[in-house]
Amino acid sequence: MKRNFPSKTCHSCGRTFAYRKSLKNNWEEVKYCSKACRKRKVSEIDKRIEEKILEMLEDQLHHSSISTSEIAKTIDTKSDRSLFEPIKRAARRLESNNFVIITQDGKRVDSSKAKGHLQIWKTHGNTGLDRSRPTNK
Ligand SMILES: [Zn+2]
Repeated sequence: MKRNFPSKTCHSCGRTFAYRKSLKNNWEEVKYCSKACRKRKVSEIDKRIEEKILEMLEDQLHHSSISTSEIAKTIDTKSDRSLFEPIKRAARRLESNNFVIITQDGKRVDSSKAKGHLQIWKTHGNTGLDRSRPTNK
């Protein structure tokens, strides 16, 4: 009997990963691609980055995309280099939930494998979180 196991998206790094034999006993429950991701999960800073990305995309009415380097520059921290991976992880998680799509050089890429800076685009119609805020003026 041949069973078909669709690949999954890691809840921490947002990469897709395929079924492997070692996971056969609990494939249904597996959420993370690796021990490291299972340990890391989604940290406070990871959540902050996700929100920042969505916020920036909301703000950009005319240009509906931002790059990972732009995001790094806006998050206040001493070295934006250290945020590069966390930002990509956040972008991939958002992509797996259909909040954004990810491109490089104008083409959609497999964000699980893409190296270097990514361009992040808002998907149309689905802005994700309920961001309605009272506008106090
Ligand atoms: Zn992972």
